[in-house]
Amino acid sequence: MNLRAVKGMNDVLPDEIGRWHRLENAFRTQVELYRYEEVRPPLVEATALFARQIGEVSDIVEKEMYSFTHHGEDLTLRPEGTAGVARAYVEHHIHNKEPLSRWYYLGPMFRSERPQKGRYRQFYQAGCEVFGDPGPAVDAEMIDMLVRLMTQLGIADITAHVNTLGGAGTRARYRDVLVAYLTPRAAELSEDSQRRLATNPLRILDSKDPRDAAIVAEAPSVLDVLEADDRAHFDGLCRYLNELGTPHVVDSRLVRGFDYYTRTLFELRSASGELGSQNALGGGGRYDRMVAELGGPDVPGIGFALGLERILLAMPQTQPPARKSVYLAPLGEAATAEALRIARSLRRYGIVADVDGRQTSLKSMLRRANGVSATYCIVVGETEMKQGTVQVKDLAGHNQEDLSRTDVARILADRIRSSRPPGGA
Ligand code: AMP
Repeated sequence: MNLRAVKGMNDVLPDEIGRWHRLENAFRTQVELYRYEEVRPPLVEATALFARQIGEVSDIVEKEMYSFTHHGEDLTLRPEGTAGVARAYVEHHIHNKEPLSRWYYLGPMFRSERPQKGRYRQFYQAGCEVFGDPGPAVDAEMIDMLVRLMTQLGIADITAHVNTLGGAGTRARYRDVLVAYLTPRAAELSEDSQRRLATNPLRILDSKDPRDAAIVAEAPSVLDVLEADDRAHFDGLCRYLNELGTPHVVDSRLVRGFDYYTRTLFELRSASGELGSQNALGGGGRYDRMVAELGGPDVPGIGFALGLERILLAMPQTQPPARKSVYLAPLGEAATAEALRIARSLRRYGIVADVDGRQTSLKSMLRRANGVSATYCIVVGETEMKQGTVQVKDLAGHNQEDLSRTDVARILADRIRSSRPPGGA
């Protein structure tokens, strides 16, 4: 039997995990400085949650969800994070406990898309949600935070595209204007867009089909039909972004794959060649109606999600220095017991230690010690056991010395710790 991973679902192997940890740690450290707190909703939710919030006629709900029926319940592997987080916010009556909540999450999402570089069927997102702040200051701060994070990760060529969809009034107006513009041109549109003209015309702006591009380029702009309060909100956002010096472009064609957005919408794009057409590293927007639609109070919300695989593709390929470690090479059973004890002491000092319990030759143990880039190798042999000492080989310096077996852990731990670069491993 030749069992392989499911198409579009990737293994992350240990040799890649260092970069993942670096990204995840940078994300957590950054967002916690803004008082975001972690929330961990389940990976499986009622299908109705996504169908209603993302929109029945969105690509995701129409054809990309992993949905199944289990004991009569219609369930779906989450295709995105916001709907589940908002459901948890409502279910636990968080608005009664605090007027403002800032939450973040990190984990896998599932969409049955055509796999290609930067597009997978299981992929990881890290995202933030703010409940209880109508903006626009928080909107600007969120976009600015993301640009800072990308810069910190070494992704320089980043642009934030920003737009607004306004509230229900603006949206209805824009829909009418757009339909009036597109209807006489319907025959030139792609089949998908022709269908969307009746169901979800705004999504036509996001079409990747070349037949739609020229028509979309000339389409009327949402910014020309904004109601007064939506206009004031968007002007406020742009003013704060300018004050903060956040690099951004106003992009009135920007629409995103979910129907729940109101007002502010944004996407972070990288010019990095690695990504090709999958150049959106993340995006988000405001969803002021979602909490109320889920049966909660009238609490506004805004959030974003970053695609971690894509950020890793855009991040420079630097490897962090390996952690200093000690390898224990015992010869014989009594020596192995001693090696296990010494290793335990080293770990109490916070030092990584490997015990080679294979009862193999010194040569092959030393080969492995070099293979894991150990700093020191402690050889515990019969003669040393009798003398109460161990032999310590400095693998980089190629010298060796005998140390007392009761002191060796403390001495090596001191040496390793004093040789660490500031903030290093
Ligand atoms: P979305 O949840 O659609 O707003 O997407 C937010 C970000 O998640 C995108 O900008 C991508 O970086 C990432 N993303 C979305 N779909 C995929 C996918 N199928 N594979 C990998 N990354 C994805």
